[in-house]
Amino acid sequence: MDATPPVPQPPPGARNLVVVVLDSLRYDSWLEAAPTNVAALGQVERRFSYASWTAPSHLNLLMGLLPHTNPREVYASEYYKQDFLRYNERLGVAGIEFRSFLPALFLPTYLKHSLGYANHARVSMPVLNEHTVINRDFDSYRLMPKHNDMAAMLDTLQFDPDRPSFCLLNVGETHYPYALPTEDPSRWPRISGVHGVFKHLDEPDALDAPEFFDRTALRELHGRQIKTVEYIDTVLARLFDLLPSNTWVVVTSDHGELFGEDRFFGHGPIAHEKVFEVPFVEGLVP
Ligand SMILES: [Zn+2]
Repeated sequence: MDATPPVPQPPPGARNLVVVVLDSLRYDSWLEAAPTNVAALGQVERRFSYASWTAPSHLNLLMGLLPHTNPREVYASEYYKQDFLRYNERLGVAGIEFRSFLPALFLPTYLKHSLGYANHARVSMPVLNEHTVINRDFDSYRLMPKHNDMAAMLDTLQFDPDRPSFCLLNVGETHYPYALPTEDPSRWPRISGVHGVFKHLDEPDALDAPEFFDRTALRELHGRQIKTVEYIDTVLARLFDLLPSNTWVVVTSDHGELFGEDRFFGHGPIAHEKVFEVPFVEGLVP
């Protein structure tokens, strides 16, 4: 006997929700790139991720808690409650509050089993592969063959006219080595001590550099991340063109990146403001 509960009929007017996570993108790289297409969504905000690397940050995002505003003089649990109320506007559905997400406290579970959504994930980072715990209540969940090809995700997206969709897109161009899909991997930057980081994508203990990195190379790497934002902005324009009009879009990052500040490089086992500082923008698809 099939014990899976039936998926309910969605409330009328429920919107699609697309969350685009530009992996490792720090806020000032976004500002330097000044992407124009995504600016049509709304005003970009400087926000802060709850975690310094990919896996815990995505779990947090999927709990429904997007990067925070770092509010002062507010008790943390009050901030969470207010943040969950934002889903009324995002989804175009009334009556959503923190308690709605209980007991699973997992956005895809709530969307599917309470609101009748279809859930889809396209991820670039191997630490988010389909065997990990966050693949729960998704109708489709795919680790992309290349870590840095958001455009390839667009061809795989489908929106059911009878059922709203939630899509998580984890985008890897902005992750080390900040490479566009057209760039020959043999031309990717090589700086001493960093090769291992890329081989073990996002494993926080993979940084075994014998000495600190060359400052000029770090500046160039930051420049490469900025260039990827300019490119991703053109892919976002293509995404906006294919999304149904009744779609709420969030574009943000899972954590920032260090480019030599205070002798740190990368993200993960780092407690520094720049590893938590991320861009955040949301709005109805333009
Ligand atoms: Zn990440």
